[in-house]
Amino acid sequence: MDFSLSEQQQKWYDAAVRFARDELVDAESVAREQRGEFWREGYQRCGRFGILGLPIPSGYGGQGTDIPTAVAAMEGLGYGCPDTGLIFALNASLWTTTMPILTFGTEAQKARYLPRLCDGRSFGANGASEPEAGSDIFSMTTRAVRRGDRWVLNGRKVWITGGPIADVFLCFATTDPSKGVLGITAFLINRDTPGFHVVREISKLGMRTAPMGELVFEDCELPAESLLGREGRGARIFNAALEWERGAILASVVGTMRRQLDRCIQQARTRKQFGQPIGKFQSVSNRIVDMMTRLETSRWMIQRYAWLKQEGKDATIAASMAKLHVSECFVQNSLDAVRIFGASGYSVEGGLERDVRDSVGGVLFSGTNDIQRNIIAQHLRL
Ligand SMILES: Cc1cc2nc3c(=O)[nH]c(=O)nc-3n(C[C@H](O)[C@H](O)[C@H](O)COP(=O)(O)OP(=O)(O)OC[C@H]3O[C@@H](n4cnc5c(N)ncnc54)[C@H](O)[C@@H]3O)c2cc1C
Repeated sequence: MDFSLSEQQQKWYDAAVRFARDELVDAESVAREQRGEFWREGYQRCGRFGILGLPIPSGYGGQGTDIPTAVAAMEGLGYGCPDTGLIFALNASLWTTTMPILTFGTEAQKARYLPRLCDGRSFGANGASEPEAGSDIFSMTTRAVRRGDRWVLNGRKVWITGGPIADVFLCFATTDPSKGVLGITAFLINRDTPGFHVVREISKLGMRTAPMGELVFEDCELPAESLLGREGRGARIFNAALEWERGAILASVVGTMRRQLDRCIQQARTRKQFGQPIGKFQSVSNRIVDMMTRLETSRWMIQRYAWLKQEGKDATIAASMAKLHVSECFVQNSLDAVRIFGASGYSVEGGLERDVRDSVGGVLFSGTNDIQRNIIAQHLRL
């Protein structure tokens, strides 16, 4: 078993670290976070660098890398750039909109949407959650009714990452509530479609640079070619999108955890109390060892998921385990970093408190970690 990165993976990892440090770190970063502002220019720089379309074939404007290379590059991005919100937003667009269009779209849909999503002209959002349908997602009530050769949608979506800024939305509705899961259908919707409204921007605990919104459909008419996949096959598309998200979206926080670890080691060696470096106190060194162990296990879980996908093997459980483990590790490592730095870790200028706030969303999105445990338990026939 070879655990090292291949030449191509290492090349992308190194390039992503350099790019992130040179082009995604600027003096405005803290202010943007405080204002809860999406950095469109930073997103477009990512498009020019090529990271938005890493696993997308070059014929559609992507880089055509394999999945292990894509997650290695995302890890590099997270290591080099402290704006976890921006990186989360671009990953959400990639894994939950771009990849489903690549996998389930017609040639016309791929040609229309993918080049723009890859080069940063468009941002994609995925709208499934509703006020009364969260974990129980397939109880959604947004309704799509066929009228001639068009579809008419009515309903509401909430907690949608990128909602306030997205250009294209992959949304789910039921075409026949009596069929339950088999009534769920996926649609691609352009932002400027009449009857489609982004009604609210939702402020939140962390990842404030990844805007979140609420969407409303009011007799929103869509042409037949808006259907993604077939009528009644939306649950399959939803599950595929969620699997990509669970397995890959946290690759960048592995890079964030490595950045935290580097800083903590440095601090433990240089900060002196009681006449010696704090790293000499076992309570500090043990904490750092635990952080490193969480970082390494997180890394292997995501790489394993990526490898399974690349090999065309079933990765459902690997995705749920990666999501569950990495998100919990990120919360714990972020808290541990603050403890090691003391009050300077708690201060905004220390640059670590933001990670604590940014980490919490991971235990909720893509299905809460309770739901991931349910999926894994079901697999064990429990
Ligand atoms: C940062 C962030 C980004 C998001 N982005 C998007 C997005 O882009 N698109 C989108 O559609 N949605 C998005 N969501 C919504 C997300 O998918 C939901 O928050 C999630 O599915 C949980 O639904 P809920 O919030 O309604 O909680 P609920 O389903 O009401 O759950 C509340 C609590 O009950 C627990 N619970 C519920 N059912 C069970 C069960 N069967 N077993 C055990 N425990 C259970 C949950 O674990 C949780 O602790 C995002 C959420 C966050 C936090």
